[in-house]
Amino acid sequence: MNKKGLLLVVSGPSGVGKGTVCNEYVKNHPECSLSVSATTRKPREGEKDGINYFFLSEEEFRKKIDNGGFLEHAVFCGNYYGTPKDTVMQMIDDGKDVILEIEVQGAMQVRAHYPEGVFIFVLPPSIEVLEERLRGRNTETDDVIKERLQRAKAEFKFIEKYNYVLVNDTVENATKTLGDIINAEKCSMSRNYKELKSEYID
Ligand code: 5GP
Repeated sequence: MNKKGLLLVVSGPSGVGKGTVCNEYVKNHPECSLSVSATTRKPREGEKDGINYFFLSEEEFRKKIDNGGFLEHAVFCGNYYGTPKDTVMQMIDDGKDVILEIEVQGAMQVRAHYPEGVFIFVLPPSIEVLEERLRGRNTETDDVIKERLQRAKAEFKFIEKYNYVLVNDTVENATKTLGDIINAEKCSMSRNYKELKSEYID
C-alpha cells in the first residue's frame, strides 16, 4: 500500500537556525526532502540557483502566482517567497516526507489547505541569542537585522497555531527532537487508523 509522506512545515524567526537543523535532519534521512522555494531575493554569497532557492525576477514570480504554481506564497521583508506546488505534492503522494522551511503567513496558508500537515515552530533559547546569531551571520546590514528582529517578534504571535515547539539550543539536540516529532507523528492513531481498521477490525 502506498502511504502518503508527511508534509512538515517548519517556521521560526530568521537566524534561529531552522535551516541548519532541517539540513542536518535530511542528511541522515533519505526518505525526507527539503522543498526548494522560489524567491525574488538576490542570492547571498555561495547560494546556488535550484539548490538553495529558485531565484526569480518579480515578473517571473507573479506569472507563477497567476498560473497557480505555488502551494503558498508570501512577502517577507520586501521579497517574494513561495513553495512550488506540483513538486511537493508529487513527493508526498510518492510516500516521501517533505519539509517546507517557510515563514508564518505561508505556513498559515498551508494549514488552511492541508491541515494534516505537521506544523513546527523553532525558537531560540532567548531573544538575545537570536540577535547574536543574526549579527554573527554577517550577511545582512544593520537595518536588515533590525527589520528581521521586528519581524521575529511579530512571528512569535503565531506560535499557538503550530503543533510543536522546537527550541534550537544546540543543532544536535534540535535535530534529534525533530526526528522524535516525526516518529511520533508517524505512530499517531489518526494517521494509521484506516490501515489498522482494515487489518484488525473489519
Ligand atoms: P531568507 O531570506 O533568510 O532565506 O528567508 C527569509 C524567510 O523566508 C525565512 O523565514 C524563510 O523560512 C522564509 N521562506 C523561505 N522560503 C519560503 C517560501 O517558500 N514561502 C514562505 N512563505 N516563506 C519562505
